[in-house]
Amino acid sequence: MSTISPSPAERISTPVDGVDVLGALSPSRAGDFLSCPLLYRFRTIDRLPEPTSVDALRGTLVHKVLEDLFDLPAGDRTPDRAAAMVEPTWAALSAADPALEELFGAEGPEIAGWLGSCRSSLARYFTLEDPRRLEPAEREAYVETVLDSRLLLRGFIDRLDVSPDGLLRVVDYKTSRSPSERFEAKALFQLRVYALILWRTRGVVPTVLQLVYLGNGEIISYRPDVEDLLATQRKVEAIWAAIRVAEESGDWRPSTGPLCRFCAHRAVCPAYGGTPPPLPVREVEDPGTIDPGSVLGGERPQVGGTERGEGVTEDPAGAGGHRDVVLDDEHPAPGRLG
Ligand code: SF4
Repeated sequence: MSTISPSPAERISTPVDGVDVLGALSPSRAGDFLSCPLLYRFRTIDRLPEPTSVDALRGTLVHKVLEDLFDLPAGDRTPDRAAAMVEPTWAALSAADPALEELFGAEGPEIAGWLGSCRSSLARYFTLEDPRRLEPAEREAYVETVLDSRLLLRGFIDRLDVSPDGLLRVVDYKTSRSPSERFEAKALFQLRVYALILWRTRGVVPTVLQLVYLGNGEIISYRPDVEDLLATQRKVEAIWAAIRVAEESGDWRPSTGPLCRFCAHRAVCPAYGGTPPPLPVREVEDPGTIDPGSVLGGERPQVGGTERGEGVTEDPAGAGGHRDVVLDDEHPAPGRLG
């Protein structure tokens, strides 16, 4: 059985010059804790393996094609060229991890149909954007910042567009369907964290955050402001404080919900009659010198499904098109994107 391959965020070291950090957190792992503290524990502390899925793998492949598409001359970035990149990209992925092929055939869907679904996702991308008119400043951009609490925030941005006058657009691709309005704030949390990191490291509040849903062909856009980013920072700090409390107490409670349907750890989850493994023994460290990859803050490698949120659709709504968002989950944000 194949497991999810390491995230670039985990393969790249996280130098934090001159600052001893208490731990590290990505939006995905913060989201895990918010959804279910026990899931956070299983992924981040126990580091239990998780089998990948064909949906997660589709996300990985489509992201790779969309990344590589911008290596082509602008005029060559056509739907046909993108479709033609699917098979070679799959060949490269399966050569790197031959076990991925076990997901298909007797145990799963036919590979030809699955490759067709990848091409369909890419075809839908071209109904939303014309990549011939775009020159991304960065792709798969690693970003990080250390908050005043010495928490390292980090992650990878699918695409960063910079206008000639320095305006930033943060773009994230999802091969799932867009959420209903009720779940928009949750979906945008990841990009708001990236916006916070960019603001702290580059001194610029991104103008637009954009979630590009290839499952149903919809873009959700949001314009953050400073108040927004400060609220995001407070939220991240609060999540981190709660993680520390759980770590100290050993109380990692299961929180059941729609994500349980996709959880790889139900067999060891008390909410489903299972017994969690004993917590790994942690060396006592000076809190000021804990490495970001240590048990407190280390994040289990994730690519595809759980890191990108692919194949995990809590709310499979959405009718397609372009939706601008005004968030009111934490504070009123009047006047956005009129
Ligand atoms: S099955 Fe549900 S409650 Fe249990 S760990 Fe997974 S997400 Fe949490």
